[in-house]
Amino acid sequence: MFERSREEYERACQYLPGGVNSPARSFSSVREEPVFIERAEGSKVYDIDGNEYIDFVSSWGPMLFGHCQEDVIEAVSEQLDKGTSFGAPTIVETEMAEEIADLIPTVDRVRMVNSGTEATMSAVRLARGYTGRDKIIKFTGNYHGHGDSFLIKAGSGPATLGLPDSPGVPEDLASLTISVPYNDEEAIQKVFEKEGDDIAAVILEPVAANMGVVPPQPGFLEFLRRITSEEGAVLIFDEVMTGFRVAAGGAQEYYEVEPDLTCLGKIIGAGFPVGAFGGKAEIMDEVAPKGPVYQAGTLSGNPLAMTAGLEMMKLIQQEGVYEELKNKSDYLREGMEELKREIDLPLSINQVGSLLSLFFTDERVVDYETATSSDTELYAEYFQNMLRGGIYIAPSQFEAMFVSAAHSREELDETLEVMEASLKELE
Ligand code: PMP
Repeated sequence: MFERSREEYERACQYLPGGVNSPARSFSSVREEPVFIERAEGSKVYDIDGNEYIDFVSSWGPMLFGHCQEDVIEAVSEQLDKGTSFGAPTIVETEMAEEIADLIPTVDRVRMVNSGTEATMSAVRLARGYTGRDKIIKFTGNYHGHGDSFLIKAGSGPATLGLPDSPGVPEDLASLTISVPYNDEEAIQKVFEKEGDDIAAVILEPVAANMGVVPPQPGFLEFLRRITSEEGAVLIFDEVMTGFRVAAGGAQEYYEVEPDLTCLGKIIGAGFPVGAFGGKAEIMDEVAPKGPVYQAGTLSGNPLAMTAGLEMMKLIQQEGVYEELKNKSDYLREGMEELKREIDLPLSINQVGSLLSLFFTDERVVDYETATSSDTELYAEYFQNMLRGGIYIAPSQFEAMFVSAAHSREELDETLEVMEASLKELE
């Protein structure tokens, strides 16, 4: 079933570390070779062996309307004829910024970058420059890309591969990042009591989705808003995953809590390499060339990426999009809950909007500790069964399932049937 993928993986391993360009797409924790994808359309991806899968990886989030969405493809094709990059201002960049500011009221100004990692790295530099302080607080199991300051107890990739911290991150720099348990108000309070004057920022995933999906407990985001305001620290929501997914205005709209800075990525690029950070004018005006905090990018605001992203912005503003996404995701979760009742395995389910996780544990998953109580060997077998059954999910217990508007009810039913068979084999 996977012969060609196996051959291509062997070839890739000669030239790419581990055969891949990003560890998250390696299958090394669940089986040897990953499947190589040839093409995708709507809710489906097709591998080079001719296998077809219902896709719940969704390019790790961007494909909210499925693959090859026709408006996106058409707009990008038109832009292609005009040029791929100019390194000079274009109107689409302003239009993109306007759309973001309209949808996310806490964003007055925005800087486009090329990945989520760049967005978070730059936001933290800005927070440090703005406050004149050096330390940051992050949460154990929250992932903010691979910037040096964030590879401290960083969730999915490192958790899956069992690498708690990365060699190459200087200890001096790591010591400026304080990692505390997610949803733990007391731990935060203690850090502020001890070193509040040194804390430049608190950065978090307002819905954690890189240790599997873990929602913020009621009051947690409000607490963070309050304490950062009192202590003069910048509150940064990393909405790379949640932005335009849990609501048009992201998790900050969904939970009605306003951060100072917001990091974005994934959906705004419709599958092109894009990220962004934005926030209040007072802070954003510290960014070069208006202010002294340096940040730059040869391909930032790339016209193809902006054109694709603008189509995405139109699509998410259609009537009923988030309701439909929620209905589909609720339907899937309810089916999963039913399986959980029927099947004799330790299972726990979390969902926020169109982000879902099935954990192999009896515990209610509220933080990294409970997330990592999952039986990852069971997950690996479950993953293999799902793959052979034509359902493409993340090769890691600590990533979300992404439901898209392109998933049909029939496909969700098929997914639940394969899930049932996959789980029953593990009993
Ligand atoms: N922040 C969050 C919340 C993410 O989920 C990710 C990627 N999964 C990133 C940042 C990093 O984004 P990128 O991979 O585009 O650098």
